[in-house]
Amino acid sequence: MIRTVLGDIQPEDFGVCYAHEHIIIDANVATMRFPDFKLESVENGVSELSQFYADGGRAMVDSMPSDSGRNVLKLAEISRQSKVHILCPTGVHIAKYYDDGHWSNHYSIEQFTELFIADIEQGIDRFDYSGPFVERTNHRAGLIKIATSEHGLSPRAKRIFEAASISHRKTGAPILTHVEQGDGALEQAHFLADHGVNLSKVVFSHTDRKPDVQYHRDILQTGVRIEYDSAFRWKTETNPTLDLVMELISDFPDQIMLGMDAARPSYWKSYGGNPGLSYLLNEFTQLMRSRGLSEEQWQRIFISTPADAYNFNSI
Ligand SMILES: [Zn+2]
Repeated sequence: MIRTVLGDIQPEDFGVCYAHEHIIIDANVATMRFPDFKLESVENGVSELSQFYADGGRAMVDSMPSDSGRNVLKLAEISRQSKVHILCPTGVHIAKYYDDGHWSNHYSIEQFTELFIADIEQGIDRFDYSGPFVERTNHRAGLIKIATSEHGLSPRAKRIFEAASISHRKTGAPILTHVEQGDGALEQAHFLADHGVNLSKVVFSHTDRKPDVQYHRDILQTGVRIEYDSAFRWKTETNPTLDLVMELISDFPDQIMLGMDAARPSYWKSYGGNPGLSYLLNEFTQLMRSRGLSEEQWQRIFISTPADAYNFNSI
């Protein structure tokens, strides 16, 4: 099954999916440091996702983990009103999105594991682990989001990656990772494999920021899935994300997905920005088709691969 904020569904009911999104980012240390990250409006979320639904979209994977602006109650409301399936993660982000004294800098592997599993099995805290009281909602986490920074697997990241591995083994929850500027993907894959994670349930993000084809072949050969999320960002004459998809989709048909990772209001039409979250279903789909992407390949990118990747591992 796939665990959405509104309950568990069968993979065949998931539908056209964006693999790495930011639907809500509430005020937080992260938005104090990076004010243009704030995405607080349920109304704008409903409006943008309703357009996505009208354009054929059916599911999105939100990727804000614990205490970095996550708000599962808002995600549930947006899902209810827009009819788009939404997955909300547990997990922890890189250190720069938190206070220096934040619990994520000093919790043990056992403590991280306990929090992650409680989010997955019981429900996400309405206060998002921001304070001493925890009040679990009945909206459960559908994946574990973890991240490495430019420093790779730091001691902090190793504790979090190990806790994610244990949580994955115990619950079957899939894992989504942040790969800073696309660097360090192989190190992540090896660490997770060494800790007993089924790499077909692991999704790497942002690797198209490093559009080196051989690097991507090496990553895909480990068996992980990747989601490219820079399609609309390139200011260059060519589109390296498009080139990567077209270069790799025949050899790795079940491992490539797409997402917007549009973590700024200026990327959303409902906040007055561009290109809007339907970009991948409209403009970018046309670009891929003009380069020869078949209907079957399109369906793998948007439908079958996300359903396989975000489906809980049987344990
Ligand atoms: Zn992101």
